[in-house]
Amino acid sequence: MSTFSVTFPSGAAWVPTFVQSIDETKCIGCGRCFKVCPRGVLTMVGLDEDGERVAIDQDGDDDEEYEKKVMTIAHRDLCIGCTACAKICPKKCYSHASLEV
Ligand code: SF4
Ligand code: SF4
Repeated sequence: MSTFSVTFPSGAAWVPTFVQSIDETKCIGCGRCFKVCPRGVLTMVGLDEDGERVAIDQDGDDDEEYEKKVMTIAHRDLCIGCTACAKICPKKCYSHASLEV
């Protein structure tokens, strides 16, 4: 086993750290991470009063009832480990990890 890394033409190595989780209890649904993710990994959902996930109409004119909006990982396999989401998140919701191969 070794840690997955990328070697650039300069010889410098970079270790991507891939998104693992988003802390829904901290997330304020600001959407900043969604805007910076270059790979379409993330999607916003609603949480109803029981904590169950409710789909949100991305146009914003939905009729569904929810208590709050939170960001979720919709397409984990598309993540390239850039950590742009974590860097811009004002609430430190993100956990990332390198990949052992
Ligand atoms: S690490 Fe990069 S690619 Fe992965 S979810 Fe965050 S912004 Fe998207
Ligand atoms: S940037 Fe952070 S607080 Fe804002 S939606 Fe994303 S995870 Fe939630």
